Amino acid sequence: MKKLKEIILEASTKKLRVFDFDDTLVTTKSFIYVKHKDGKELKLTPGEYAKYIPKSGDEFDYKDFQTVKEPKEIKAISKLLKRFISSDGERSIFILTARSKYKPIQNYLKDTGYGNVYVVALNNADPKAKADWVEGKIKDGYNDILFMDDSSKNTKAVGDLKNKYPSIKMKTYTVPKALQNEAVIDQSRQSINIIVNLDKTKHADERRFRHDTNNPITDDEIIETGKRGGQKIAKLLLFDKLDIGDDVVIFDQRTALNLVCSISNPKPDTIELDIITIMQKKDFKPKPGTFKIFV
Ligand SMILES: [Mg+2]
Repeated sequence: MKKLKEIILEASTKKLRVFDFDDTLVTTKSFIYVKHKDGKELKLTPGEYAKYIPKSGDEFDYKDFQTVKEPKEIKAISKLLKRFISSDGERSIFILTARSKYKPIQNYLKDTGYGNVYVVALNNADPKAKADWVEGKIKDGYNDILFMDDSSKNTKAVGDLKNKYPSIKMKTYTVPKALQNEAVIDQSRQSINIIVNLDKTKHADERRFRHDTNNPITDDEIIETGKRGGQKIAKLLLFDKLDIGDDVVIFDQRTALNLVCSISNPKPDTIELDIITIMQKKDFKPKPGTFKIFV
């Protein structure tokens, strides 16, 4: 049975979930075309456009945004949206876009199985336009808000409403570039090759038996553990949690094998793990600041 406090809280909570469309829910092959006064033309991606400082006499053409051109889902975000749509509970869900037309987005969402989702097209790329729209909803009584957008200017403008309305619950999330890249990688079905390199480190060979001489560690074991660690490393690189050149420790929880390795990137689709040292030890403490990966 629900407690009275919960019932009162639920009754007074009005949830609003707002998602941007371009580069938040999907990436598309859409450009903004700029025609300068002298007749020269320029093609900008949405990201470039966000930073572009207009020159006097510029004419903008947004024709690509009249349709949803070659969409690629950004899975982490689209999954969340689908979960909101299908789960119980009262919440209003909106797609809020700076585009001028809502219909192509609404059709795309219907065609890809989201069902009927409200789409609001502001025809205005000013972050204030989104903040004003959300503020209107606060005035309508919404007091638990989640706002997701790839533009940090938009999330900042909306997040600032919290200062004006301190009693509401406001959460904003800026969709990182890495998720957009991941959408592209997912769709093109490119897989990342993982190379575990034992050659470079004679040193590793010497240390191989250091902590358990009775139970030699085979090359196959090292490679197998390295490959499993490599999958996680690929993800962490994508999310900017790790960098090429970083040292990491891969710890195999089944065998207590530690692989200390450094990450290199010999080709765009290849991650190489250069093994520096190996040891079998449950409580091995790596150098401070070394990322530890559990597999
Ligand atoms: Mg966007």
